[in-house]
Amino acid sequence: MRAQGKGPGGPPDKGTRRAAASRDSALGERTPEKKTRAANSSKPPAGGGGKTSGGESHLALVRRARRINRELAEVYPYAHPELDFENSFQLLVATVLSAQTTDLRVNQTTPALFAAYPTPEDMAAADPEALEQLIRPTGFFRAKAKSLLGLSAALRDNFGGEVPGRLKDLVTLPGVGRKTANVVLGNAFGVPGITVDTHFGRLVRRWKWTDETDPEKIEAVVCDLFPKSEWTMLSHRVIFHGRRVCHSRRPACGACPIAPLCPSYGEGETDPEKAKKLLKYEMGGRPGQRLKPPADFPGQPAPPLGADVEVE
Ligand code: SF4
Repeated sequence: MRAQGKGPGGPPDKGTRRAAASRDSALGERTPEKKTRAANSSKPPAGGGGKTSGGESHLALVRRARRINRELAEVYPYAHPELDFENSFQLLVATVLSAQTTDLRVNQTTPALFAAYPTPEDMAAADPEALEQLIRPTGFFRAKAKSLLGLSAALRDNFGGEVPGRLKDLVTLPGVGRKTANVVLGNAFGVPGITVDTHFGRLVRRWKWTDETDPEKIEAVVCDLFPKSEWTMLSHRVIFHGRRVCHSRRPACGACPIAPLCPSYGEGETDPEKAKKLLKYEMGGRPGQRLKPPADFPGQPAPPLGADVEVE
């Protein structure tokens, strides 16, 4: 049975409160967080009074999307990038390595990598085979080593050994596309950006924010629904939710705190007890992906490479 609610665009109701209770029981007791208010955009909604493909007015969609963002902000007040990094170069390298693998695997790999090559100059001068062996656990290690050597040399030769803080410069680096550039800009330079990865695309389609599958088109649609100041944290929250609750194959609808706002409720497991067992990382009482999580992370740190600990 669908969770009680007034459907997309409706105000939080009993269903929302039940969902919040389910969320709190999944996370353990937490200090109530102040509500995030996202509705401060000065930008008029694109599309005027037209309807979306789901028959919802653009204004209703903006309101529902922002309500989902506010709910997610309460569920994940500690949302953050799940790659361990201490500077912009480390974040850039870690993001390149994260293609086709988990952030956990990258985080388990980078301590030895950054100890061996702490600067772009060091990495540009690396022996390719030694570099390949260090990053081997992340998969596609030959192609990734080539990218790291190329981007390190470009940083050394073209940018004075510093990671540039502009999109147009970042995307000139080997192995760096728009998604990687936005991650670096948002999290190392404080430049707002939407990160459209596989989780983000899947969730915004389930929420009927858009039907698009092209990352750049999704980015444009979502940018238009929110004020710029929300873009980076929205990205973290959505990706957190995709990794913990709204999985690709078996979304945990019965334990989902935003079920009353979701038009795709029922796509996954709706039985609350069974759904709770599908929750991952700190929501499922297990370690997170970062070996060095931020201080406010309520879960446990991830284990180092080779440790025999169940993570997800
Ligand atoms: S888990 Fe289910 S209810 Fe929650 S966002 Fe995903 S599809 Fe919607």
